[in-house]
Amino acid sequence: MRIKIKEILASKHPIGKPVTVCGWVRTLRDQKSFAFIELNDGSSLANLQVVADEKIPGYADILRNATTGASLSVKGHLVESPGKNQALELKADEIRVLGTCPADKYPLQKKRHSFEFLRTIAHLRPRTNTQGAVLRVRNALAHATHLFFQQQGFLYIHTPIITGSDCEGGGEMFRVTTIENTDYAKDFFGKPAYLTVSGQLEGEIMALALSDIYTFGPTFRAENSNTTRHLAEFWMIEPEMAFADLKADMECAQQYLQFCVKYALEHCREDLEFFDKFIENGLIKRLQHVASSPFAHLTYADAVEILQKAPKTFEFPVAWGTDLQSEHERYLAEEYCKKPVILTDYPASIKAFYMRANEDGKTVAAMDILVPKIGEIIGGSQREERLDVLEKKIADHGLSRSDYWWYLELREFGSVPHAGFGLGFERLVLFTTGMENIRDVIPFPRYPGHADF
Ligand code: ATP
Ligand code: MN
Repeated sequence: MRIKIKEILASKHPIGKPVTVCGWVRTLRDQKSFAFIELNDGSSLANLQVVADEKIPGYADILRNATTGASLSVKGHLVESPGKNQALELKADEIRVLGTCPADKYPLQKKRHSFEFLRTIAHLRPRTNTQGAVLRVRNALAHATHLFFQQQGFLYIHTPIITGSDCEGGGEMFRVTTIENTDYAKDFFGKPAYLTVSGQLEGEIMALALSDIYTFGPTFRAENSNTTRHLAEFWMIEPEMAFADLKADMECAQQYLQFCVKYALEHCREDLEFFDKFIENGLIKRLQHVASSPFAHLTYADAVEILQKAPKTFEFPVAWGTDLQSEHERYLAEEYCKKPVILTDYPASIKAFYMRANEDGKTVAAMDILVPKIGEIIGGSQREERLDVLEKKIADHGLSRSDYWWYLELREFGSVPHAGFGLGFERLVLFTTGMENIRDVIPFPRYPGHADF
């Protein structure tokens, strides 16, 4: 039975126990009568040290073939390591080279490679320390997401990926078609179809029957933005709660973010220590602070005033009614609040039609959560549940009533106050790992000009 390296390093198996371990060679150090092989199987950042001495069958061939990148199966027994880098090592009794790896061709050499270069070899980059750590943290955050919402009694709902309504997307939607011309009546769905930009509207349908739901699925935006925070294909988590107002929404969002950060601190310690050392000094301290202190709160109006008075010149000027740019969002979270901040009550004119109108007639019950280093990580709102108000808002936004017939019927048939938010999963991974570029926290990034692998 093969055992994962992570389990061995966690001392779950006693000294002397015979085990089989498989993995890829990181390095081989030839000491003539014996050799050290650093083996990694992706289960942990740390490698297992394998000691092979010249008495094992086929030793000369193994030395020749167990080069960096080669895959091995090693039968052996665990021994205490005389070295000080590890407590345990594997004394090999038998080594099989499963796949050789020509050293002159293999692109992953010992030196550090740039993240740009690694993106061009997305089929090999998961074998690097950084990508391995990113993917393990990403996995933990996905697990934490389900744990959190399931514990709170939310149902996991699958909303469609192909959608016939271009509700929110405007020009940002990818079209789905099987034809070459533009006669959409003859197309697969008999009308234009798109890749979804959000599962929210369908999520609302579900919340208005099942109370609390969440989605966690792929989301597509054809925005041509070459930034370090945007992808054309990303994953979004969208909870929707019936019988909930903006306050409940903010509460849920803060608890969810803190839960994820705590989960990573508890379950990904080794990887986070790696990021703290090589990617963002002080990462663990920052995460501990996020996990333990309540988020700051500001209204949009207050934020605008703070930005106007800031001892700093921004590229884009701010006035009440302008959309905040990432530089503004980052200033508020990073420098002014020095922690995540929830901004509320945005002008209706810069937010979507479905957000609930406030009493003042100017603002809506929206909330964005801004975090240091990234800016917006969550966008949410209380939804407009009053039929007449919603009809007016649809008209005000220049949208057509008939496109939203079912959305309006939800307000006609047993409407209730409800609220929800969307969190960009890759931004959460950026936030938790300290990585700088969103293209390095998803296995196969899609962005303008890039859809390889
Ligand atoms: P931004 O202003 O940063 O472009 P947005 O306001 O357009 O974001 P929303 O429509 O509110 O984004 O989507 C909800 C969340 O999804 C955002 O808070 C963000 O975390 C994430 N998100 C949005 N667009 C992208 C994208 N292109 N790539 C990755 N994540 C995204
Ligand atoms: Mn937003």
